[in-house]
Amino acid sequence: MPSILLIHPPAAKPGEPPAGIAALAGSLRRHGLDCDLLDANLEGMLFLLDRDGERPGDAWSTRAWRNRAANAAALRAPALYHNPDRYHRAVRDLNRALEMAARTRPDISLSLSNYQDESKPLASGDLLRAAEQPERNPFFPWMQARLPALLEQRGPAWIGISLGYLSQAICAFALLGFVKQRYPAIKLVLGGGLLTSWMSHPEWRDPFAGLVDHCIAGPGEEPLLRLLGRDRPAIDPAPDYSGLPLTDYLSPGLVLPYAASRGCYWNRCGFCPEPAEQNRYQPTAPATVVGHLRELCGRHRPSLLHLLDNAISPALLRALRDHPPGCPWYGFVRFHEQLADLDFCRQLRASGCVLLKLGLESGSQAVLDAMAKGIGLELADRVLATLRRAGIAAYVYLLFGTPSESLVEARQTMDFVLRRHQAITFLNLAIFNMPIAGAEARHLPGSGFSQGDLSLYLDFVHPRGWDRRAVRTFLDREFKRQPPIAAILRRDPPYFTSNHAPFFGGRFL
Ligand code: SF4
Repeated sequence: MPSILLIHPPAAKPGEPPAGIAALAGSLRRHGLDCDLLDANLEGMLFLLDRDGERPGDAWSTRAWRNRAANAAALRAPALYHNPDRYHRAVRDLNRALEMAARTRPDISLSLSNYQDESKPLASGDLLRAAEQPERNPFFPWMQARLPALLEQRGPAWIGISLGYLSQAICAFALLGFVKQRYPAIKLVLGGGLLTSWMSHPEWRDPFAGLVDHCIAGPGEEPLLRLLGRDRPAIDPAPDYSGLPLTDYLSPGLVLPYAASRGCYWNRCGFCPEPAEQNRYQPTAPATVVGHLRELCGRHRPSLLHLLDNAISPALLRALRDHPPGCPWYGFVRFHEQLADLDFCRQLRASGCVLLKLGLESGSQAVLDAMAKGIGLELADRVLATLRRAGIAAYVYLLFGTPSESLVEARQTMDFVLRRHQAITFLNLAIFNMPIAGAEARHLPGSGFSQGDLSLYLDFVHPRGWDRRAVRTFLDREFKRQPPIAAILRRDPPYFTSNHAPFFGGRFL
């Protein structure tokens, strides 16, 4: 029977097991197929941190290197999360140690959430070069130490690499190249969110054909089943995390990620890649989700459940209220009338909801309407106040520089935040990127692809002159300098951001 090894490549936040390959494993194993999971991201980072040797540097670097094992251990224990200052120091020191461990060349920059080198991760030629020269990648020593023994012992016929984020692209191709050069008989499959975005472009012409045997866009369950000879529709099994190092992740206890849907039930926001890429909304039935969560939480006893949906549907929120999963949980929601109901939110809190992430984007109603966000500021106001009263932390996302915004509207956003600062626990600030496939890209004068032939965004001329540089200046010189806003921004967990925020949310309510 053909077997498959599914790999989560570096670099991504090492706070929780990778949901994508765990969901695939649930499906494949349910159909009786042999499937192994490898978190190359976590293993590779721990390998680099584990190596002996003195690292010359300044006093901070010396301290960071000396304490790396103690800091990693502290991040796995709840006590550190009672002291935000100590937590911030431990994370920054561990990150510094990782950065030093990976810097075999001056252009290499590895952090707890990102990887960069001189290659462009959005240029297919650079990715193919990373595959041709895996020995230039800082994870090469880990590949040499880990992969030959694993592949010879397990003998997979297939290797699948899940490419979810841009931060993983270069290392994913180095991994593909390593396998291709040494084990040419193994067939290679590439899938994941980033590849799906690339493949949704109308001009996609697979540049990786000589390296990768199959590229899979969208949910991988059915295509993988077909590749492995099971021509039956995928059912909705729970993800299966067996084989992943569940006690090694850098969080205080196990954080279990779970996706109850693909796509988005709203699917209309003008700035968002979901509608632009025409990703179909595919929810799992709430009753099935509730059953999965009960089973998973009973088996793994996680300290936190991370719901990965782009927006948890109102029906699923009701189901979670009625059937609590049995551990604290958090996820992304839309501003919805349901969340302005204090009784409902108190029940949600009682079901374990500790934090909700909400995309507000703008404090200007005109901007919200122009981007078809589908929310009113008056509702957002009530929801934020209600969540605070119910004891649920709010992680609010703002987006600056959209085509309908100017300095006037950006200041309205700042005023909105200042007036509600007590109800906003955490803030994420982003600057607008124009999705290549979006409707607006057709109407605004653009200036070609931003960063390579695989770029997902277009450079564009802002119709009101509110370009990225002007937005950055506003954010740095005005927005972030408002004392209540600065206080919120200081709370954000470095590198882990919203992934660790639920462990702190209660302190700031
Ligand atoms: S609600 Fe979120 S995921 Fe859905 S379309 Fe809007 S921005 Fe995209």
